[in-house]
Amino acid sequence: MAGFDELAIDLAQRRNQHLYRSRRVLEGPQGAQIKINGKNLLNFCSNDYLGLANHPQIIQAFKKAADTYGVGSGASHLVNGHSCCHHALEEALAEFTGRERVLLFSTGYMANLGVVSALVGRGDAVFEDRLNHASLLDAGRLSRARFQRYAHADMADLHEKLERSRGHRKLIISDGVFSMDGDLAPVEKMAQQASDSGAWLMIDDAHGLGCIGEGGRGTLSQLALSCAEVPVLVGTLGKAFGTGGAFVAGSEILIETLIQKARTYIYTTAMPPALAAATLASLKLVEVEHWRREKLAALISRFRTGMAALPLQLMPSTTAIQPVLIGDSEKTLKISEQLLQAGILVTAIRPPTVPKGTARLRVTLSAAHSESQVDQLLAAFAAISV
Ligand SMILES: *Cc1c(COP(=O)(O)O)cnc(C)c1O
Repeated sequence: MAGFDELAIDLAQRRNQHLYRSRRVLEGPQGAQIKINGKNLLNFCSNDYLGLANHPQIIQAFKKAADTYGVGSGASHLVNGHSCCHHALEEALAEFTGRERVLLFSTGYMANLGVVSALVGRGDAVFEDRLNHASLLDAGRLSRARFQRYAHADMADLHEKLERSRGHRKLIISDGVFSMDGDLAPVEKMAQQASDSGAWLMIDDAHGLGCIGEGGRGTLSQLALSCAEVPVLVGTLGKAFGTGGAFVAGSEILIETLIQKARTYIYTTAMPPALAAATLASLKLVEVEHWRREKLAALISRFRTGMAALPLQLMPSTTAIQPVLIGDSEKTLKISEQLLQAGILVTAIRPPTVPKGTARLRVTLSAAHSESQVDQLLAAFAAISV
């Protein structure tokens, strides 16, 4: 076996193409202000949209549950790792989403892989938006179903692909709010197409849940779509809910099918029970603290108004994800670096996370930000020179 020379060459190439990725070490909690390398930075790139990741009530619930239930769950859900904390959270999330049942997963990535492979396989067909989250695209590829991507939000393209498909089962999959663009999927039209073609529809609302819809019930609530129209709903808990993990919500039959067949559910250790207990505390805040969504909406509007006066291309988004399209990866990195010099962290998102030539600064806003912090970001964008 040769050494890793080939890998080293690949790494060097990535560096030359300004596509090299590296991590920053956070020295404190997630929040509007974060500490990196001993320096306090204004943070505009986390997914902690409601400012709950470091909320005292959620921390308290986590500590209390750790005292009672320990740290590790000790086993998978189907062996003996399914605690009353997990169960209570599933029931509360079912109530929240207005669906019969919910199943918890350890991460959103795993939920997506597990669900898609449990629902479709050889002889079936999967249709995905080209800009879907990587976990959904991977899920489609791994399922062994015929995997097709349609142009972003292009219903004519989806229609054509559905018409031509000879798949036995057909599954249409989309982000609810697109993770790197911030726009909403045309879910009503997708539901119509699914119904016309006898396909199932699955929506991953990782960035909608908590932030939009009545009481934070997400994209489907905002569009008044039922479980019959969108039978598979995936939500993640590491974003607006400020904790970690994910869930699938749907009918009794869907959830029982997943318990029997979703390999990323069956063959993995259950999340720590205290994390589920903390999430239950978070869910209560998400539901009742409407001011968080109202504040977020006001900050989004303030940011968009301010950016409209600058010679930068803000993408058409109404959500907490407000990407500034730059295009070139090197230029995007340079701007990110300039913002950092001004004490502001906005990471550069480059290919392959986004299509070639569409590198961007993915600005995310949070209810934890103040108006003056948003103004600071606007001032930093105004001062940019490249
Ligand atoms: C973040 C995200 C995921 C992955 O969820 P994790 O819990 O972080 O693994 C899945 N889908 C979408 C759309 C996401 O944005």
